[in-house]
Amino acid sequence: MHVGVIGTGYVGLVTATCLAEAGHHLTCVDNDPRKIQMLREGRVPIYEPGLEDMVARNVAAGRMRFSESTAEAAQENELLFIAVGTPGREDGTADLSFIEAVSREIAANLPAGARKIVVEKSTVPVSTGDRVKRSIQRGCRPGVEFEVVSNPEFLREGSAISDFFRPDRIVVGVESEFAANAMHRLYEPILEGRYFDPPGSRRPAWLVTDVASAELIKHASNSFLALKISYINSIAAICELTGGNIEHVAEGMGLDQRIGPQFLRAGLGYGGSCFPKDVAAFREIARSAGAEFGILKEVMDVNAEQRKRFLRKIEEALWVVKGKTVAVLGLAFKPHTDDIREAPALDVLSWLEKQGARIRAYDPAAQENIRKLYPDVAYCDSPYQAAEQADALLVVTEWDEFRYLDLKRLHATMSHGIIVDGRNIFSPALVADAGFEYYSMGRPAVHPPSAGKDVRAT
Ligand code: NAD
Repeated sequence: MHVGVIGTGYVGLVTATCLAEAGHHLTCVDNDPRKIQMLREGRVPIYEPGLEDMVARNVAAGRMRFSESTAEAAQENELLFIAVGTPGREDGTADLSFIEAVSREIAANLPAGARKIVVEKSTVPVSTGDRVKRSIQRGCRPGVEFEVVSNPEFLREGSAISDFFRPDRIVVGVESEFAANAMHRLYEPILEGRYFDPPGSRRPAWLVTDVASAELIKHASNSFLALKISYINSIAAICELTGGNIEHVAEGMGLDQRIGPQFLRAGLGYGGSCFPKDVAAFREIARSAGAEFGILKEVMDVNAEQRKRFLRKIEEALWVVKGKTVAVLGLAFKPHTDDIREAPALDVLSWLEKQGARIRAYDPAAQENIRKLYPDVAYCDSPYQAAEQADALLVVTEWDEFRYLDLKRLHATMSHGIIVDGRNIFSPALVADAGFEYYSMGRPAVHPPSAGKDVRAT
């Protein structure tokens, strides 16, 4: 099929590339000329494992091209995906100005006579589909036939390609069988389970709903996952107060199949470009519909508190932060991405700067993005370099490479052996054995065996 994707960011580029890989013909549109220029030169503007090779392969095969013109894409393609950003506004509602702008551009350029399908891929408030429809109806020429479909995206940055090809479900909200059939044809290779190992061993669920329900599924799913994270972080706080260990509690809960182990990792709370804005937007959607969604306020409050709890641990460990050298490991909002939108690291760096700490930082992918916001931080080439002469080391993002650091070498590099681990990546016994004083989330603090005895405890 011939498909145009408007918005070539994390979602749009992955969607387009994977659909091209599945055999379709894709036009990727973005109004950022730098992005289109980079893509034409064979460079991918974002860090996403496996993406660059796949883009190159599909460009070479003639199935993918890049353009700055939504008009061209609207004229030439049977399906048009809208994958532009829907950022949060100050009041929590979603900013839909990019969606509106694209709808209007599509409207002005749809040719009469061909039945086109406009697909909402961006995460949008319920009833946006209706708005898009009205906007296109208002702006299009007579004789134009089109439908609006909602097809929410559930991929995660860092594993986006795998998530796209091996999803649990594909949801399409439609108004006609024609649109449902077109979407089914588009996703056929994925629905057949071609990308599972072995091929066909599993098949994603195919769920066809009305447009409003599909829009709600996305916000309801993201809010529920955020709720799970805030729930386990609340339990972590209780563990800290009562002497429990969150790792044991989460394991015990997750073994119940009704609960499941995923999203039960205590830490610094959720961040990124989706959960914070989607939870806030969903709450506002509910409110404006006349339903107070109080749980979501709690979810947001717990998340904010969790970040503050981490900062208090740093203070507890260092006492006076001013003038201390602090190594920060991990800047991206999660591993395997360079995305720093709403990353906990932003709060941590701001706070450390305000306290007057000297900051040394390392991240395998996100350093350049953070550097633009925090130019005074000393950016390093490795975790060991970041740790040089540091009074404390903070784990902010759980990149795999941090899990396997040589702890004794790390200790020897630092001025003081203190780790504050916001992601619980280390075993308390191992870090204590390497001589560290260790603070983590929802687990008792650990002091090295050689530490001076607390006389009150004897
Ligand atoms: P992004 O900011 O990476 O990409 C959006 C792109 O749209 C940008 O490249 C921007 O230049 C382009 N754009 C904006 N206005 C345009 C216009 N008028 N014409 C052409 N291009 C335009 O955003 P993203 O992370 O890809 O998210 C896109 C949507 O997908 C959002 O609604 C988001 O909530 C949703 N989503 C994101 C993820 C994720 O993990 N990032 C996952 C699921 C859903």
